Amino acid sequence: MKLIKKILRFFLLDIVEKQIQKQENKTKSKLELCEKWVEELLLSTDIELENVYVHKLGNWGLCGKSSYGQTFKKLNDGTEKWFDIIHSDKAYIFVPEIKNTWTVHAWIHEIGHYQLGHYKDKNKPTYIKEYEAEQYSIEKATECPHIDDFMMVDVEVGARWYVWSHVLKAIKKGEINKDTIEPYIKEYLLKSPYIAKEFESECAMSEHEFNKKVA
Ligand SMILES: [Zn+2]
Repeated sequence: MKLIKKILRFFLLDIVEKQIQKQENKTKSKLELCEKWVEELLLSTDIELENVYVHKLGNWGLCGKSSYGQTFKKLNDGTEKWFDIIHSDKAYIFVPEIKNTWTVHAWIHEIGHYQLGHYKDKNKPTYIKEYEAEQYSIEKATECPHIDDFMMVDVEVGARWYVWSHVLKAIKKGEINKDTIEPYIKEYLLKSPYIAKEFESECAMSEHEFNKKVA
């Protein structure tokens, strides 16, 4: 009996392992296709390619313009890293290595910032720029034949929470309050029942944080 159990377990493990491997290969080839697709999207823009940096430092991206020839980014561990920009008279883009849906999303999002000319627009509030880049991202991801429904859910859910985090940041800085958030952005956020549930209290907490700072 013990031996039969052992053999059975061996076969079962073998099947499970093969299934996992199969799934991993499928995901890998899907991500490779996504990578090619986002590279083509990037090439369809007129961005200076020498100003495009692919980094291994996490999931973040950046799009901007630096007349100093350098830019910095706060990393997850709290340190700041300075990066040299080859063409300081032109816009730059930082994108992460493609490892998962989020990194594919980050590529499209940064290309969106570039295409929407955000690096030239100093007056538009950051949370609106982030909302617009996320809308661009969702629109383009829908066009990508390699992003399936599951990945799309990730993109859409991630986009809403990302915009929400920027709205709260803007409230904490005193740039806006819950009554002056762009109505279309507020409407977009409230479509999530989870955000809707915490909307009032989170806005109030962020406003309180700002008031404490200026008091
Ligand atoms: Zn952004």
